[in-house]
Amino acid sequence: MTSLITATRFARHFLAAHWRWRTFDATALHRFQEQRARAAVAHAYAHSPFYRDHWAGHDLTGWRTLPTVDKATMMANFDRFNTVGVTRAAALDAAMLAERSRDFRPTVGPYTVGLSSGTSGHRGVFLVSPAEQGAWAGLILARALHRLRRGGVRVAFFLRSFSNLYAQANGRLVKLRYFDLMTPIPVAVEQLNAFQPHIVIGPPSLLGLLADAQTTGALHMTPDRLISVAEVLEPQDELRLQTTFQAPVHQIYQCTEGLLAVSCAHGGLHIQEDVVALQLEPLDAAGEWCTPIVTDFWRRTQPIIRYRLNDVVRLAPAPCPCGSPFRVLATIAGRCDDLCYFFDAEGARQPVFPDTLRRAILLASAAIIDYEIVQERDGQLQICLLADASTPFDAVADVVVETVQSTLVRYDLQPATVTVELGLTPRPADAKRRRVQRIHA
Ligand SMILES: [Zn+2]
Repeated sequence: MTSLITATRFARHFLAAHWRWRTFDATALHRFQEQRARAAVAHAYAHSPFYRDHWAGHDLTGWRTLPTVDKATMMANFDRFNTVGVTRAAALDAAMLAERSRDFRPTVGPYTVGLSSGTSGHRGVFLVSPAEQGAWAGLILARALHRLRRGGVRVAFFLRSFSNLYAQANGRLVKLRYFDLMTPIPVAVEQLNAFQPHIVIGPPSLLGLLADAQTTGALHMTPDRLISVAEVLEPQDELRLQTTFQAPVHQIYQCTEGLLAVSCAHGGLHIQEDVVALQLEPLDAAGEWCTPIVTDFWRRTQPIIRYRLNDVVRLAPAPCPCGSPFRVLATIAGRCDDLCYFFDAEGARQPVFPDTLRRAILLASAAIIDYEIVQERDGQLQICLLADASTPFDAVADVVVETVQSTLVRYDLQPATVTVELGLTPRPADAKRRRVQRIHA
């Protein structure tokens, strides 16, 4: 009975999401957002003691200006934040137990528990009800599949941890093959050769390893598309994947806080504006780079309303050729925590975006294959490089330092203390790749 209800809910959300994507113009979208946001706010006010206190004295109809929350606030008030009375201790226990046994299906009562990776030990804990799972699965398939196939679309999915969330998506529309990121590459290659996926979903660092295997001839698959998740997709990686597999590289931008953006068939990374409201708060004077404030229209168990994410994004300057009124993201540049800071002429600290440093390094020399940047304190950078042997490494290092310094000068900043080393730091297969990283003491 439960599975029948779940399947019905899944189908309803799949069809509704499909319909909204096809038919909504800007006016219909705005009206829909207002209705859904007000319903989400009313529900949170009625059932979440935390939000009720947090919004005391505010006009709830003006939801766009309600006080914000963030991960730290949510975690500090977890027990009163969720609407179903699950304690943080119970949720954490379930999540940790599952993580240790690599079982990955932690639940407390009917609720699935999710953990988000966080910097400096700030892990977020998330609760999702079975109804929300069904809705999520329907939504994401409606947006990410683009087209259906007789016999089902074969999807290979590489994930750090398998979640209950994904189990729902496996069925007649989709044949989902899940791979743990810890799966040795030769084993994954053998299975992919047999499975021949239409779509391969995974972090770009993993997709890069598959591209290596495809280049050597060990892997021979011809996917229609690749979908990058979980890590920043940098343009040079996108180009290489696209060339190796002769297929477009799309993205799903989601986090435990919600489904935020999905690429359309034209490749535009559309904000899922009927799922979440993303209010973009500028991080620089030009208003080019922003951090999103998320309001989820559907989540009831753990309401996400005016939740400040720790990400740096940039809107595309022009609408997508597909004609959708859903706004398009040009870049997801990583976390605000990974902004690097340098000093201006007056000695004041100024942020520099990871994308600026990435460009400076990759454009410095054609010999550079890969890079990593770590900033441990303001005004300092440690750069690790993987370079081919065409140029002596010292010469590559010199030109990188020079380019970084001239980039800083161009932004009216003082030169930095830069060290360059040969070789990248080894990383476990299931750890996220963060090429630009700011260490917080
Ligand atoms: Zn589009």
